[in-house]
Amino acid sequence: MKEIILIKNGELALKGLNRGTFEDMMIKNMRHRLSSLGNFTFTKSQSTITVTPEDESVDRDEAVRRLSKVFGIAALSRAAVCEKDIDVIRNTAVEYLGDALSAVRTFKVEAKRSDKKFPLTSPQICEEVGGWLLAHVPGLRVDVHNPDITVTVEVRDKQAFIRGNQLHGAGGMPVGSGGNACLLISGGIDSPVAGWMMAKRGVRLTGVHFASPPYTSELAERKVHELLEKVTEYAGRIRLFTVEFTEIQEAIRDNCPEEMFTITMRRFMMKIASAIAIRENCGALITGESLGQVASQTLHALGCTDECASIPVFRPCIGMDKNEIVEISRKIDTFEISIRPYEDCCTVFTPKHPRTRATVDMARQAEEMIENREELMQRAIDSAVLKIIG
Ligand code: ATP
Ligand code: MG
Repeated sequence: MKEIILIKNGELALKGLNRGTFEDMMIKNMRHRLSSLGNFTFTKSQSTITVTPEDESVDRDEAVRRLSKVFGIAALSRAAVCEKDIDVIRNTAVEYLGDALSAVRTFKVEAKRSDKKFPLTSPQICEEVGGWLLAHVPGLRVDVHNPDITVTVEVRDKQAFIRGNQLHGAGGMPVGSGGNACLLISGGIDSPVAGWMMAKRGVRLTGVHFASPPYTSELAERKVHELLEKVTEYAGRIRLFTVEFTEIQEAIRDNCPEEMFTITMRRFMMKIASAIAIRENCGALITGESLGQVASQTLHALGCTDECASIPVFRPCIGMDKNEIVEISRKIDTFEISIRPYEDCCTVFTPKHPRTRATVDMARQAEEMIENREELMQRAIDSAVLKIIG
């Protein structure tokens, strides 16, 4: 029996003229995610995309698992494909879904007929297939309101599809449809979640990570790679730039008032990330900041860092509680990696009493105490090493 995977578009079905382009982006993203599993053909018709494995041995469960993380997909399911003949449809339904139906108590049949020349109406298809299943699967009952399994028969132009319950897709918009943005990624819990949230809205991510060797270790960098690898399951390939931040941090330690260390460091991060973002064609920065979470994330502090960004800064976690962020990090499987205890550059030279009410003037003054700051920043930008993840 031939089996395919049926993909239902989410929001992009509403996007009018762009729909075709968005669907093509989604197909490209699906193709990338499935490429290591085998060859697949993708066909679009009537707000459905069909994914057909080209050889029998393909791991279909794994294919569905991977596709369930591709943004832009509202729902997906495996489906049997058969000839458009009611006898064949009935027999295929029993053969394909018999085992699943024997394991539950109730079902109903829904029919969709895009081929209006098909000799049976939708209600007649339901009646025929439902009756046949009742006769061939012992112990099964019909429940039209709250069935355990809904059997769907779609009669299309060339063939019929038969499927059981659909799975939820990842929703959102296809990655690439929302432009490019640069994610400031630390080894913490929040920034991978922030990246995931923006990728869900169609943004393709480029990563920037600040490392301060020898204060931060290689293990800390590997942690960031592993975090991004998890994010790539949703966001597709990510280009990560690792910036050497040591000189700047030492200059801050040696020149600035201690209470301004964190804010000054974050201002430099924003400037360097903006320069890399613009060079790499990104239209925004993304951070994992959440209001009030730590001293560097008060309204005052955010105001001081924001003015250093030369492009918009997206902070999708800004209004979220920590437990809400943790919930997402568990769902996307980054949590266990994030809580590994390696030093991040933010925990190097942490002031005992950071300023929570710093003004922009104070922040500028602190920064100006580093005389060769332009040169240091340029060196940091030039130090960025690219690694492709995913
Ligand atoms: P996270 O859990 O994302 O590390 P956090 O609550 O620890 O966040 P901070 O350490 O103050 O908060 O960092 C705030 C944001 O600044 C991070 O979410 C991230 O976007 C960015 N950031 C912090 N450290 C780095 C770093 N080493 N490299 C790149 N970006 C960073
Ligand atoms: Mg952090």
